[in-house]
Amino acid sequence: MNKKKYFISEEASLKWLESHCIYNIFSDELYEIDDSAFEFFKSCASGNGCNSCNISDVEFLKFSVEEGLLSKSRKAPRKIPSRQSPVPSLRYLELQITNRCNLSCRHCYIGKKSTVELDIDAIRKIMNEFEEIQGLRLLITGGEPLLYSRFDELNSMLHDYEFRKILFTNGLLLDSEILGKLNVNEIQISIDGLNEAHDFIRGKGTYEKSIEAVKMVAGTSFQVSVSTMVHTRNLNDFDEMGRIFSEIGVRDWSVDVPCIAGFLKDNPDIVPPPDVAGKYLRYGFGEGLHGGGAGYVCGLHLMSVMADGRAAKCSFYSEDPVGHIGEGLEICWKRVEHAPLSDLDCNCAHLDTCRGGCRYRASLSGNARSGDPYRCAAFLGSD
Ligand code: SF4
Ligand code: SF4
Repeated sequence: MNKKKYFISEEASLKWLESHCIYNIFSDELYEIDDSAFEFFKSCASGNGCNSCNISDVEFLKFSVEEGLLSKSRKAPRKIPSRQSPVPSLRYLELQITNRCNLSCRHCYIGKKSTVELDIDAIRKIMNEFEEIQGLRLLITGGEPLLYSRFDELNSMLHDYEFRKILFTNGLLLDSEILGKLNVNEIQISIDGLNEAHDFIRGKGTYEKSIEAVKMVAGTSFQVSVSTMVHTRNLNDFDEMGRIFSEIGVRDWSVDVPCIAGFLKDNPDIVPPPDVAGKYLRYGFGEGLHGGGAGYVCGLHLMSVMADGRAAKCSFYSEDPVGHIGEGLEICWKRVEHAPLSDLDCNCAHLDTCRGGCRYRASLSGNARSGDPYRCAAFLGSD
C-alpha cells in the first residue's frame, strides 16, 4: 500500500460548484470529482498532507500529480469550500476596475471618457465574495486597468485568492518592471489587425508597442492571449495575424465583431455586415474566456461589474443592471436571468455549439429571440 504523503499543489484549488471539483488555476482545467475523491483532496489541503492509506487507486494518484493537482512535497494549506456555490455557479467575473484609458479606440463600447473607478475596499470585498462562492476566473479589465489609481495595492492583494487572474490590457504600459511584480496568471492584449489596421482603430504607433508587449509577455512565465475585433480595415490581415500569434506562442486568440455601442455609435461603418465579417469569427484558437453552459445561451457562468459598481449579465448590459455590487456579489448574481436555448427562434443544426451567438448583438436586431446574424454567417459558411 502506498504510504507517501500528498499535499494539494499551490496551483490547485478545491471547488464545490454544481458538483465537487478540483481546479488547476494555472492550466485553467476543471476536474469533476466524486465524493470520495473530494474527501481525499480535502485531507490533503490541511498543510500536513494526507497519506494515501485509503487510496488504492495508484493511477488516480499518478494522474493527480501529473496534472499538477497533488504534490509530494510540503505545501501551504489550501482553502476548503464551506458550502456549495449558487446554481448556476458564477465562475467568471469581469471586473472593470477603472474607466480611465490612455487610448480612444474607435470601437470602444464604454464610450465617453471618464475617471470613474471601483473603490479598493469594494474590490477586496468583491474578491472575498467571489472566492467564497468558488469563482474560477477574475477578468481584470477597464478602461486600461494598469491606470487604476491603486493598482499596486490591488496587485498585492491578488496573491491571497485561489482563482485565476487575467489582466486585459492594450499593452502600452507593460514593461519589464511591471511584469516583474504582476500577480496574475494570464495577460490578454488587444491586437486589432496588422500595423495599419490596428493603428487606424487604436491610434498611430500603437501596433508596434502592443505587439512588442505580446512578445515580451510570451518570454516570461505569464500566459499570453490576444483578442481581435473584426473591422473593415483588417479583413486581409487574419492569416498573417494567425501565423504571427502561433509563432509567438499565444495561448488563446479570440476573434469577435464589435457591437454597436459606445464610440461605435459614431463610427458604425467600420463594422462590416454579417455576410462579410461572419467568416472571420472562424479564426482564433483556444478556449475563450466567457465559457457557456449546455442548454443555455451565452454567459451562463459570467457576470460583469462596471467601474461605477453596477453589476450586469455582461458589460454590454450595463444599461440594464441587475443591481449595485454594494448589495453583495451573490445577491446580484442570483438576479441574473439565464435563458434556455429553447427560448430562441434559432432552428439550426449548430444550436448546441453556437448557443445563439452573442445575445446582446442578436438583440440589436429588435428581436431578442433571433439568432446572432454574425454567428449565422460564420456557421453558414462552414457547412
Ligand atoms: S452577450 Fe455577447 S458579450 Fe455578453 S456574454 Fe454573451 S457573447 Fe459575451
Ligand atoms: S448559427 Fe444562427 S441560427 Fe444557428 S444557433 Fe447560431 S445564431 Fe442561432
